[in-house]
Amino acid sequence: MQTLQRTFSIIKPDAVSKGATGDILHMMQEKGFRIIGMRMLEITKQQAEGFYAVHCERPFFESLTNFMSSGPIVVLALEKENAIADLRKLMGATNPANAEAGTIRKKWADSIERNSVHGSDADDTARFELSYFFAGYELCK
Ligand code: ATP
Ligand code: MG
Repeated sequence: MQTLQRTFSIIKPDAVSKGATGDILHMMQEKGFRIIGMRMLEITKQQAEGFYAVHCERPFFESLTNFMSSGPIVVLALEKENAIADLRKLMGATNPANAEAGTIRKKWADSIERNSVHGSDADDTARFELSYFFAGYELCK
């Protein structure tokens, strides 16, 4: 028997600015993800650096954190059986050129950087990322 799992997602500035938020939420809900937390906000460069700290040595870190702090984002707490892997599947490959048909990135992403959505990649990162943006009391039962 599978158990419910939580994951964390961001609708990134490129997708929010082109009006894709509703469609992306719809794609997630159609796949059975339950939204248990949701907020639109803008983050500072420093907050983006803290969130993506695992990538601080990568050549794209500077550009990525500028992008993530460039405009409104929507942060999401999602619940579903096998949520972490299933969200990664629904998102598609990091580079939209390699994303499969039917994925969010295939439909909406502009480039490997401006790729519309973020999703946690493992249990421990999901826990860190959920707690980076949500207090426990903000999540719905
Ligand atoms: P995310 O962590 O945002 O869900 P991901 O797990 O598919 O995406 P990561 O390798 O964790 O990809 O990279 C984090 C983010 O950094 C990517 O989503 C993308 O926005 C950006 N990025 C990754 N690789 C590159 C690259 N080669 N050039 C520019 N930006 C990149
Ligand atoms: Mg990642």
